[in-house]
Amino acid sequence: MPPFAAPLRLRLDSDALISNWNWLRGQGGSARCGAAIKADGYGLGAAEVLRQLADAGCRDFFVATWAEAAALMPLADGVSLSVLHGVREEDMAIALAGGGARPALSTPDQIARWRGAGGGACDVMIDTGMNRLGLDWCADVSALTRGLDVVTLMSHLASADEDIAFSAVQLGRFVEVTSGLTARQRSLANSAGICLGRDYHFELTRPGLALYGGIPRGEAASHLRQVVTPQAQVLQRRTIRAGDSVGYNGLFIAPRDMDAAILNIGYADGYLRGFSCRGVAVAGEQRLPVLGRVSMDLLIVDASATPELREGDWLSLDYDLPAASAQSGLSQYELLTGLGSRFDRLWV
Ligand SMILES: *Cc1c(COP(=O)(O)O)cnc(C)c1O
Repeated sequence: MPPFAAPLRLRLDSDALISNWNWLRGQGGSARCGAAIKADGYGLGAAEVLRQLADAGCRDFFVATWAEAAALMPLADGVSLSVLHGVREEDMAIALAGGGARPALSTPDQIARWRGAGGGACDVMIDTGMNRLGLDWCADVSALTRGLDVVTLMSHLASADEDIAFSAVQLGRFVEVTSGLTARQRSLANSAGICLGRDYHFELTRPGLALYGGIPRGEAASHLRQVVTPQAQVLQRRTIRAGDSVGYNGLFIAPRDMDAAILNIGYADGYLRGFSCRGVAVAGEQRLPVLGRVSMDLLIVDASATPELREGDWLSLDYDLPAASAQSGLSQYELLTGLGSRFDRLWV
């Protein structure tokens, strides 16, 4: 954190994070519940998310790259970290250095590299139809993985957030391809997959989005709590005369005399232009609509209903993820991971 307080804060609700993890764990029945903390913990800060979830009993974490893994080392005792992008030649030094993380191997080349270097425990990703990362489920996975010390056999669901038959197709393929393999555990479900029921849980689940308050499927909505609230400071308060235009390209024309507050947040902070004329700031009970276009570092909101709002006051942005997603045209994932680096992260 800089030696002075930034004019932007991410308010992060620790109780909500833990409550979301506990709900997901409960939904998973007897399966262990892990946590995807890639992309810096979906924008919340991976190190702090890991620490808090580990305190709550979470043991199984997932990042995308070795740079992300390295930033979390050394790992606490009993904490396991899987690197989803596998292992490139450039990663081998850190992967073999014994920091406690292991690769999720996805290609025959990665497997050969790991085996050739005498790498120890690893995970294996199998593609069951998403056609993203993983060994093809039609390949001879048993031969490919022979002799490896596999901790987790994984696959990833393409459309668990929708009600389509393809999830069951992937499930069937995963059962089939893993039935002849030896591994300590299997894992298929992301946040949405957990909601699909016990057939999808196996021994370990891997939620990300839902931990951070994203709603992966409608049935989870009433159980998950918002974790992230961006807050910005008022830089200026001004009066706008009827007929004046506001912001870049004058997208908003004042229909009457009104007051505006200029806030210290913009698209460089992940508050993207989809919120132009549609987003909402919140002051107590009052909702302050965004006026005109979002700038790079600034936002103009209607402050007519809050005559007491002053320079230096803090406002929250409405960041209820499904609602903000509908307002902005961004996915809930993008709303979290796009949050920029100018925020002070304030866990409460
Ligand atoms: C990101 C990711 C997850 C978590 O997915 P959510 O939809 O955020 O719950 C799980 N598994 C893999 C392989 C991932 O890449």
